[in-house]
Amino acid sequence: MMAQYLEIKAQYRDALLFYRMGDFYELFFDDAVAAAAALDIALTRRGKHQGDDIPMCGVPVHSAEGYLLTLIRRGFRVAIAEQMENPAEARKRGSKSVVARDVVRLVTPGTLTEESLLDARRHNYLAAYTEVREAGALAWCDMSTGELRVMACDRARLGPELARLMPRELLVPEPLETDLRPLSEELGAALTASARASFDSQSAEGRLCTLYGVGTLEGFGSFSRAELGALGGLVAYLDLTQRGNLPLLRPPVREAAAQVMLIDAATRRNLELTAALAGGREGSLLAAIDTTVTAAGARLLERRLSSPSCVLGEIHARQAAVGLLHQEASLRAELRRALRQVPDMDRALSRLALERGGPRDLAAIRDGLAQAGQIAGLLDPQELPEHLQQATRALGGHDPLLEALDAALVADPPLLARDGGFIAPGHDADLDEARRLRDEGRSVIAGMQADYARQTGITALKIKHNNVLGYFIETTATHAEKMLAPPLSETFIHRQTTANQLRFTTVELSEMETRILNAGAHALELEKQLFDGLRRAVLEAAGIVSACARALAEIDLAAGFAELAASGDWCAPRVDDSRAFDIQAGRHPVVEAALRRAGDSFVANDCTLSPADTDGAAIRLLTGPNMAGKSTFLRQNALIAVLAQAGAFVPAQQAHIGLVSQVFSRVGASDDLARGRSTFMVEMVETAAILNQADARALVILDEIGRGTATWDGLSIAWAVLEHLHDINRCRALFATHYHEMTGLAARLRGVENATVAVREWEGEVIFLHEVRTGAADRSYGVQVARLAGLPEAAVTRAREILTALESGEREGARNPVALIDELPLFAARPAPAPQSPAPKADPVAERLAAVHPDDLSPRDALALLYELKALS
Ligand code: ADP
Repeated sequence: MMAQYLEIKAQYRDALLFYRMGDFYELFFDDAVAAAAALDIALTRRGKHQGDDIPMCGVPVHSAEGYLLTLIRRGFRVAIAEQMENPAEARKRGSKSVVARDVVRLVTPGTLTEESLLDARRHNYLAAYTEVREAGALAWCDMSTGELRVMACDRARLGPELARLMPRELLVPEPLETDLRPLSEELGAALTASARASFDSQSAEGRLCTLYGVGTLEGFGSFSRAELGALGGLVAYLDLTQRGNLPLLRPPVREAAAQVMLIDAATRRNLELTAALAGGREGSLLAAIDTTVTAAGARLLERRLSSPSCVLGEIHARQAAVGLLHQEASLRAELRRALRQVPDMDRALSRLALERGGPRDLAAIRDGLAQAGQIAGLLDPQELPEHLQQATRALGGHDPLLEALDAALVADPPLLARDGGFIAPGHDADLDEARRLRDEGRSVIAGMQADYARQTGITALKIKHNNVLGYFIETTATHAEKMLAPPLSETFIHRQTTANQLRFTTVELSEMETRILNAGAHALELEKQLFDGLRRAVLEAAGIVSACARALAEIDLAAGFAELAASGDWCAPRVDDSRAFDIQAGRHPVVEAALRRAGDSFVANDCTLSPADTDGAAIRLLTGPNMAGKSTFLRQNALIAVLAQAGAFVPAQQAHIGLVSQVFSRVGASDDLARGRSTFMVEMVETAAILNQADARALVILDEIGRGTATWDGLSIAWAVLEHLHDINRCRALFATHYHEMTGLAARLRGVENATVAVREWEGEVIFLHEVRTGAADRSYGVQVARLAGLPEAAVTRAREILTALESGEREGARNPVALIDELPLFAARPAPAPQSPAPKADPVAERLAAVHPDDLSPRDALALLYELKALS
């Protein structure tokens, strides 16, 4: 057995081997050590190998899924070796033969299909990237829904595209492994390197033709060699992991790069599109706007939000669908009610295709198709915009399949086919007969009990059943003498004596038992055949079923967007091919929702970016104190663009957006401390990417760029970045900064306008109005904010004095305004110590402050100092 184990293991060196032994999957050697630690289960030993104990651990087959999930999440891959014959068959081959075993599946993060291992509302993508000479291509599929796509994609674009898809696993040819490891690590995708040969474009073509049963791929479109290579590498890997049992893949769809909005990883993070900065879905835009009611609808929403469209026709078609359902409130409500009953057909279909499905998957298809019919009945194609008409058409055409499933299945079938009991009575005459024999046998046995009681005169005699003896007759031990002596002993064959009972069988009873068992086994066998037939019927209609599932997801998403618009008072944005960006009374959907929960209201703000020349830049330079709402304003406008091109309505009174090809968003380094690298370096790398990539259709959001370094450095960098955006990139941009010096740029650069977030000062305190107005902020209010933060009164007063001195020094042109501070009396405003205190103790805050040279401080040091002072007070 160990020889067999080692032979199999040698083929799966980079995976843990789950080696099936009866009711357990066993792991040995290093696999056992690693798995026992990861799963927190006992590590034991079994036998010896080359004189050493063999470490071993195991998991029960029936609960293996949970363990698998943990292992996959921890980054392991798992090869599952099953017994391919039963022990009797092995014995036939030779007395010492080991049961044949083989790997039936390699489980990896990108190839999961089990319901319990997947998040129903998210896609689970496997991606493959390859390069042929200079050209790169990325292919990806969701095995559990059959979606397969490919696009031309060079190295520079790979990061943003992967950030959009967030694949669980990235497959690359071996030579690219080292280059792409940092990227895959950053995105949290497992990196798998395959032999270069599996990405070879020529064999890829053959592989794809075989997969789709076609002679040429031309019918699917034309693919570059790199695209073929990526698709081929992907399919080869599926073949490897599924051991030849290929999933039901739809024909590959070629995605043109220009068709979707380019959003890189940093921007996605900053905008918190599908995950919040804190991690997880909670707090993200996706979570705030998810009003879909089906799992497939939720996945479609995630996809649209991750890849907003750049094709006007597509955007308008989707908007029209949302518009209609927005108007027709009662239709929307009816649709949503009906959609709630729609099960996850995509995933049921894929499990059936991979032979991992059960009766419940058949029932999911049946219920989904039936519900699709109901939903089609609610929609009148004449009255619908094109997008919904198309979807409605795809809801029908499956009547024969639906009828077959409906007639065959019980309402609520069990999970596993092997348990039987899922085919409805009256569907199949042979099955009914087998079940009748089985059930009748049971009632015949009940009759036999009465006969035997009469025959023996023992009224307490019972016929029982257990797994060891099967059916048996039981009496109490008090009747031993009578039962064990003739004439009764001629009929009743003694089987067992327990403490208080005697157990017997009879020829008649064991014959009846055999009949029952045979009838039961026959019934199960018949059900299994019927299951296979139904499964085949479903797979033959897979095209129709998955088109229907997609149509339901589209309707769900359109109705969800409409619901969102109606409940949140959102408007239909006008999207065209101009370069306009004009938002009236825009809001930030996530911040607004959070404020509403706290009982506050959100202040809506306009944002107009109007280029001075047709091809010139349009930039708003936003100043204003911290906490005024600058970041919120910046992000809300980027989110509005994303939502508009995702086909949704937007949180504003009115919006006019000229197609945005790329969105970039960056936040100055000090907000980003958690990421560990030299934060200023990160900030600059990310800013460089914008200046190198942003075109005239880009929308750029820069929040406090330059903050991560010393003041003058930071100002110079921010200044130069703004000039570059204006002169070279010529894009639309929102630029928030606390460098007031920059507001002078508006006078010099035609495309730059100043804006500020209004605050009011009242009795020395700032009140945030959250209103964005044109013009520059008059001052920064940092001292007031410090006071709000709880800085001791003495420190605040002192800071105010220093500020006044610095400002007046600057006005008077003093060469070194800081020198003036020396002339100020230190803490003159501090109240005299209270009389009861014995000896006035030195004030630690004052001492610390005295040692400070503000000019030596970077803004970050200053913040750290504020914390330090606060701790001292
Ligand atoms: P800044 O970037 O200027 O430091 P933020 O955008 O982080 O400020 O906003 C600070 C806080 O002010 C937010 O957490 C939010 O609670 C509140 N806020 C921001 N914008 C608005 C608004 N338009 N209406 C109401 N509250 C707002």
